[in-house]
Amino acid sequence: MRILIVEDEVKTGDYLKQGLSEAGFVTDITRDGIDGLHLLMTEEYDLVILDVMLPGMDGWQVLKSVRQIGKQMPVLFLTARDRVEDRVKGLELGADDYLIKPFDFSELLARVRTLLRRGKTKETELLEIADLKLDILRRRVTRAGKRIDLTSKEFSLLELLLRRQGEVLPRSLIASQVWDMNFDSDTNVIEVAMRRLRMKVDDEFEPKLIHNIRGMGYVLEIPEK
Ligand code: CA
Repeated sequence: MRILIVEDEVKTGDYLKQGLSEAGFVTDITRDGIDGLHLLMTEEYDLVILDVMLPGMDGWQVLKSVRQIGKQMPVLFLTARDRVEDRVKGLELGADDYLIKPFDFSELLARVRTLLRRGKTKETELLEIADLKLDILRRRVTRAGKRIDLTSKEFSLLELLLRRQGEVLPRSLIASQVWDMNFDSDTNVIEVAMRRLRMKVDDEFEPKLIHNIRGMGYVLEIPEK
């Protein structure tokens, strides 16, 4: 497994490189956004750890360019700024996860392993969480073995939530991915569809899987006890 680290703070970068090497990963490191982008376009990586504030080109621009050329490797953002807008912006641009600095290395390692696992199963035909299963090819959803009938929008919505389970998905991202429209604050189409989906998927079952995070969006996950 090969990981690229793009981080201009020498201390943080070295700490990451050393820790990840000790955990058995092959790592490359660069301290500059433009070099980072160049490496991502010319080399194959299984995952990228990307700082936001970088010389040359910021992490957002790097991510945007990488996604534009169709590279789908998981991206873990490092952000020094504990601001919801920054995190949302990263996720909208196609980041898979983020960590706020300073972070524990054990936390970073756990996120990296989760992302790599998820990356490998991306092309699977069956998405699942707890006892909820979505079969992409057969367009079939079951929970606890019981068939659930969904409209095509509800199916797309659930597929998106399942593919990115554990991530808080902002409404604007859901709107663009499922409805192919720009977010318009006057419309409650997402809320309505989400309510219907939750009724079908969660009402009769435990644990509840779809959660509304006020002011941020929706997340599909097994709640912590
Ligand atoms: Ca930085």
